[in-house]
Amino acid sequence: MEELREYAKELLEKKEVAAVIGYTQVSENRTKPIIITDPADASKLVFNEYCLNNLSVYLTKARINAMCRTKDKIMKLAICAKPCDVHSIVALIQENQVHRNDIVIISFNCHGAVKDFGYEFSGENLASKCITCETHKPLYFDKIFGEEKETPKASDAALARIEELESMTHEERFEYFNNEFDKCIKCYACRAVCPLCYCQRCITDKAIPRWIESSSHQRGNFSWNIVRAFHLSARCTGCGECDRACPMDIPLSLINRRMAMEAKKSFSYVSGRSLETPTLVGSFNEKDSDELFM
Ligand code: SF4
Ligand code: SF4
Ligand code: SF4
Repeated sequence: MEELREYAKELLEKKEVAAVIGYTQVSENRTKPIIITDPADASKLVFNEYCLNNLSVYLTKARINAMCRTKDKIMKLAICAKPCDVHSIVALIQENQVHRNDIVIISFNCHGAVKDFGYEFSGENLASKCITCETHKPLYFDKIFGEEKETPKASDAALARIEELESMTHEERFEYFNNEFDKCIKCYACRAVCPLCYCQRCITDKAIPRWIESSSHQRGNFSWNIVRAFHLSARCTGCGECDRACPMDIPLSLINRRMAMEAKKSFSYVSGRSLETPTLVGSFNEKDSDELFM
């Protein structure tokens, strides 16, 4: 922890970055995001199993980017990112929303994060994404901290649920998701926490023409969630933030994960893994199968 604080302090003191986006402890089992501009505040930074937020969502926020722009120069931003959050940063770079040279990625050897704040870190309270995590070490970073440790064992309940849904008929599956989406209160928390939901103006906010009913009604709820799932297909990096933020406990990650599985199977593509490859939706390969579109 001290090394992280020293490094952040040095970056700010030497004016190598305008701010450090990181985590601070608020109680024994809970952290919250913090944006530090004063080197003296670097002592507030922490990194542990309770660092749930995917901070890369802040990289595209205009107010934060404005902090980096002075009259005569543009400064870098430093960001603390778990290895899975680095996937989101990579996806943002691939989609030209962030430039690699404008950020300092501070990452960690990670053995997991909790599913929910307020409970001890264990296999029972392990975030679903950590069960299948294949990158406990970040794929890209400028500085790395933390020791390598073993991740607690847990069963992959989400995969079991996906398999169960796959075994249903189309009608049964439609009914399942229709009932789930019916609970949606259109709070847009899922959109607010998603690093890849960075559109300046979301289709749901457009009134002329009104593509999606804005009230919490079954018709609009279904369109909203399906449009969002399509928009995130082969882009979602599986950070799980939308699931965590949804106050109605709609299992959004079941759809996102299923779409990611399809992208991997059909196109050998996993979002946010390589700065050297173009995005799946932003590229065309004549050898790609047409099967999906028939
Ligand atoms: S998915 Fe991997 S990198 Fe992300 S919190 Fe879990 S163990 Fe850490
Ligand atoms: S759709 Fe959900 S899981 Fe996927 S990147 Fe956005 S917040 Fe993360
Ligand atoms: S967070 Fe949940 S309730 Fe809110 S808009 Fe998204 S799906 Fe609907």
